Amino acid sequence: MTARIIDGKQVAESIRSELTKEVAELKKKGIIPGLGVILVGENPASISYVTAKEKACHDIGMFSSDNRLPATTTQKELLDFIEKMNKDPKINGILVQLPLPKHINEKDILTAINPDKDVDGFHPVNVGKMVMGEKAYLPCTPHGVVQLLARSGVKIDGAHVVVVGRSNIVGKPVANMLLQKAKNANATVTICHTGTPDIGYFTRQADIVIVAAGRPNTVTADMIKEGAVVIDVGVNRVPDSTKKAGFRLVGDVDYDNVKEKASMITPVPGGVGPMTITMLLFNTIESARTTAG
Ligand code: NAP
Repeated sequence: MTARIIDGKQVAESIRSELTKEVAELKKKGIIPGLGVILVGENPASISYVTAKEKACHDIGMFSSDNRLPATTTQKELLDFIEKMNKDPKINGILVQLPLPKHINEKDILTAINPDKDVDGFHPVNVGKMVMGEKAYLPCTPHGVVQLLARSGVKIDGAHVVVVGRSNIVGKPVANMLLQKAKNANATVTICHTGTPDIGYFTRQADIVIVAAGRPNTVTADMIKEGAVVIDVGVNRVPDSTKKAGFRLVGDVDYDNVKEKASMITPVPGGVGPMTITMLLFNTIESARTTAG
């Protein structure tokens, strides 16, 4: 079997075109969804991420407040800045780009964001609501994974999903979302991590395998059941002298061999990646709509 490739770019574009229409409808009512972006310091990867997020906002007609703060910004200054955004009615969502400089406590910053504007879904209030199956801002990458599955026609209800990785950003939330008694969920979920002696024992039983380990080739063809759906969240740089940049991006899955066994698979790049920013836009629009009542 050769897998059908799940085209994350195409799915993301189709969601963005739905969101563009929603933004146009909100504008007719005088509402312009606004995202407040805060970047502290000059980490090149972070600069490119926030630039992409700001551009995505403008592309669909949203407002973005773009704030670049120096690396010397103190924790108190950043907290004051967030408080200003918490109170700013033009800002529906606040995004603090991570990682922050070492002298700033990430947890203190993320909990200072008003949960109603926490469009990254990292605030403990939103995490708690998500775990309890209540309405919450869902973290963007795991929400993107669920949307990719649902929009590709994958049957999640009743499936056995194995998640490899238990980070707070990807593994734990995606597992939690999929086990809810809800639409696009109701799966039986197993989570593997570095404490799992034999990951393959579990992945071989899975109808859906979601890999977020941050290590190339964590999942190989012998670890996959014939016909399984494989979602690769990983993004890793591997040296490649044929590329101008000197590296290429690969996921956590041995793509070339796994695609011969899976029924569907996401590529890297072009799979989960394009979904993350899309779900950030989704959450910000949702916040604008909720605020407007
Ligand atoms: P992370 O915080 O480093 O967590 C990795 C998790 O994988 C940990 O729970 C770790 O287990 C587990 N793990 C690592 N190696 C393993 C192995 N050999 N076997 C089993 N489990 C293993 O990473 P993350 O933030 O979740 O990100 C994971 C990957 O997704 C990275 O490549 C990242 O770049 C990518 N990512 C992509 C997007 C996107 O938009 N496409 C967004 C976020 C992340 P322990 O807990 O036991 O250490």
